[in-house]
This record gives sequence, structure tokens and C-alpha cells, in this order.
Amino acid sequence: MLRKYESGACKRRLKKEREEMVAKLPKMTNFFSSNQTIMQFPQTVDNYKNNERKDENNNTENEVARQGPSNEIQEVESVESTMHNNELDSDTILREDPALRPLQLKENERMKYLNKGYAFFQNKDSNFESSKRMFKNQYRYYSVKYFQKVMNNGEICDRKWLMFSESTGCVFCYVCKLFSTDYDNVFVKSGFYNWKKAKLTIFSHENSKEHIQCMIKWIEFIKQNTHVDEYMNSCGYSFLAGRGLAFRGHNEVIGSSNNGNYLGMLELLTQFDPVLKQHIDTFANKGKGNVNYLSKTICEELIDIMSQKVLTDIITEIKKAKYWGTIVDSTSDISHVDQLSVIFRYYLNDHVYERFFCFLQIKSHDGKSLITDILDLLERNDIDITNCWGQAYDNASNMSGKYSGLQARLKERSELAFYIPCAGHSLNLVGQCSVSECINSINYFGVLQSLYSFFVASTHRWDLLKGNHATLKRLSDSRWLCRSDASKSLIENFDGIHAALSYS
Ligand SMILES: [Zn+2]
Repeated sequence: MLRKYESGACKRRLKKEREEMVAKLPKMTNFFSSNQTIMQFPQTVDNYKNNERKDENNNTENEVARQGPSNEIQEVESVESTMHNNELDSDTILREDPALRPLQLKENERMKYLNKGYAFFQNKDSNFESSKRMFKNQYRYYSVKYFQKVMNNGEICDRKWLMFSESTGCVFCYVCKLFSTDYDNVFVKSGFYNWKKAKLTIFSHENSKEHIQCMIKWIEFIKQNTHVDEYMNSCGYSFLAGRGLAFRGHNEVIGSSNNGNYLGMLELLTQFDPVLKQHIDTFANKGKGNVNYLSKTICEELIDIMSQKVLTDIITEIKKAKYWGTIVDSTSDISHVDQLSVIFRYYLNDHVYERFFCFLQIKSHDGKSLITDILDLLERNDIDITNCWGQAYDNASNMSGKYSGLQARLKERSELAFYIPCAGHSLNLVGQCSVSECINSINYFGVLQSLYSFFVASTHRWDLLKGNHATLKRLSDSRWLCRSDASKSLIENFDGIHAALSYS
């Protein structure tokens, strides 16, 4: 007898072929500008404006930064002028080496450097050989430690503005080179290399008025440029994902009413977006072997990119906030897999954020296995457990247990991770306990539940209730607050319910 379906080997071969084909296609991420790195910026414009005010009267030290080394200037200038000529002719080529960049940039050139982000130009992984300089019979080098600074509170921050030039062995300023009009500044023009005074000069440059103003311009640029997010929004991805709607339908045919929410939404958008309309008109429904970026593979890749982006943003925020708390609870999902939902809570920029992070599949409910799962999650995402300063769970003993509960085990690792029983859970328990102590209330809620059961058991009775413009609500065992809704509905519909019961 002939088989109507494909064999396992055939399916595997097709799968392999498909994977190979997908691997050859350009990735979606290639189409986005990489502004992710420059978007993560720790200080706000206000911080900078405050610094600027402080430093207005304190500019004497900045003169140090202007003492440019004279012997190498000419050499660098000649490199710069040749580069300048080359680059003006062709489309701008971005140079990692800041010394090989034209001193004055055209607007479109500046945009290219900005969009590339600062990290590309820092050359942090250089061996700094070319920075070797002789000072009174002693060689000195640039050190990677200058890429970081220690704040007054002891925290270490990256100096995102500092760039090392391998060709000249000097350092330049990323922001001043892009925004400053002071072309004589050593961090803009020829690069700084007086390593003997490096600490002081770098410090005074980053506190100089000109540099701070350039930083403000940079931060304002970053704020205005959120290409990826805009693109995602316009795609309708965040719309569907935010509402928990299914993306895919029964088929992937444009024009079919069964092609799912995502393609349906794209069809809707074509009515307002001529570019999308042209794309869909030209490439949709072309069949196998034609690339149109509308398939489920692309859809899944974009969802994956979005979830990664959300996760990295949450991790970045947690790290910025430094101290965090966690809320964890487990429940089994529809396929009876036990899931631990993990929530992080932190304080950042005058707001308390409570963010759902992920579901963890758990094997066991005991504290030992839970702490292993959580520590593993933290390690994978590079979140420091010692910065956990709070935890909240329900009152179950595996969570709240004083000796071997999750809270006790977490506290062993972070002394300040104080455990607070979840207020919502506790209030629920208080309601339940107090009601079960009083006969009148037991009777009252019993009657309320029987009323609901009586009417809901038959469509005829429910119709009667509806005919009297009344309705009833169910009591919920787990959410005690539902009883308030049920009671309210009894009070508001009392006459209607009474009339429905009196009907004979
Ligand atoms: Zn600067």
C-alpha cells in the first residue's frame, strides 16, 4: 500500500534543506542600525547639565588638556588631510581608528559615526604597543584602566567617550570629535599621549564645559533615535505580542481570511503604507524558493529578536539599578508542566519597576531544587545574587520556610535579601480564615454560592434571571476578593433575583 504521508527520513531531509536555506538568507538584524550600544547610557542630560554648572568656574585645569604634543601633530595632520580628501570623494568609510577621521565632518558623515555607536571606535582590545612614549628615560604606555573611572561612591563606570588610536598611539574623545567646534583641543585634533599626566588630564577633560556640552548633544541624539523600536511598532509585532494574540493562522497566503493575525495586520497596514503595499504586491504568494520576508520563519525570528531585546533591556535596567528584589511563584500550565514565574523588582530613575522576567520549568518544589534553578537563571543572565535585597513569596513552607525554604537559602547567599510574605496572598488567607470562624458568614456565602449554582444549572432559570434584568457572580476559592464582586451583584440585583425565584 502506498503511504500518503512523507517518511521520517524525508521529513528530516526537508528540515535540513530548509535550515540550510534559512542560514544562507541575510539575517533580519542586518537591516537594523546598531544603536543598541549607544542607547545604554548611564547618565541623564540633567546630570550633565548640573555638572556643567558646577564646572563653569573651575576651568583652569582644562588648560592641561589643551597642551597638545607638538612633535607629532604634523604627522597626524598629514594623515588626516589625505583621509579627508579620499573620504569626501566616495561614500564615507567608517574608520575604527579615530586619528584617521576627518577633523570636520559633514552632517551625513557625523550621522554615520553616531549610528555606529561608541564601542566600535574605542579599540579597547588593542595591545597599546603604539602608545609607548619615553618620559625621562622611562617608557610609559596607555593603560586599559583609563577606559573606566571610579565614582565617588566607589562604583566603576565606563568612559564611553574615550577612543584609542592604534596608528598614533593617542587617545581621542568620541563626543568632542563629533560635536565640538574647538578643533584645537588635543582630544579632538591630534590625540592625547602625555601618559605621565594621563589621570589628571582625562579627568579634567571629562569635566570640561565643552566636553559636557558635547555629551548633552550626544544624549539628546540618542533619545531621538530609536529606529528599532519604531520599526517594531510599525510592524504590528508589539501590538500582537502585547495583547497575547496568536500570530499565525491556517495558511500563509496573502488575501486569505485564514492567514492569521500577523499577515492580516500587514494587509491592513498596506492600505496606509505605500512601501509595504508595493512590497506585498510584488513579492507575496510567489511560492517556494522566493524570498519575501513574510514567512513564519521570519515571523518567529522577529519575535525572538523582540524577546531578546526585552530581556536585555530588563537586565540592563537591573544592573543600572544595582539592587533588586524578586517575586517567585509556581503554577502548572495547561499541559501540566510546572512553571515558576520569576519577577524582578527594582528602583530606577524615581520609579519602582516590577517586571516579569521568564517562566522556569521546575522539576521539584523543594527549596533546594528551587534555589538551584534560580541561581542558574541569575548566572546565565549575569545578575549578581549579592545585590538581591528583597524577596517575596506566598506563605507555602517550601518558599517561606525558615530553615530550608527558598527564602532561607537565598538569604544564605545575600545577607540583605529580607523575606516579606506576599501581601496579596496573606490578605487572601486572612479573609478566608476570618470568614470560616463565623457561622453567619459561612451561611451567607453558602447561600450566595447555592444561588449561583441554582441558576447556572439550567438555561431556563438563567433566562428567567436575565428576563428580570438581574445577574449573579460566582465565588472563587483562590481569589477571595471575588466574593466582594459576588456580594455587590447580589445587593444590586436583589429585586430581580427575588422575582425570578418567586416565579412559578
Ligand atoms: Zn570630550
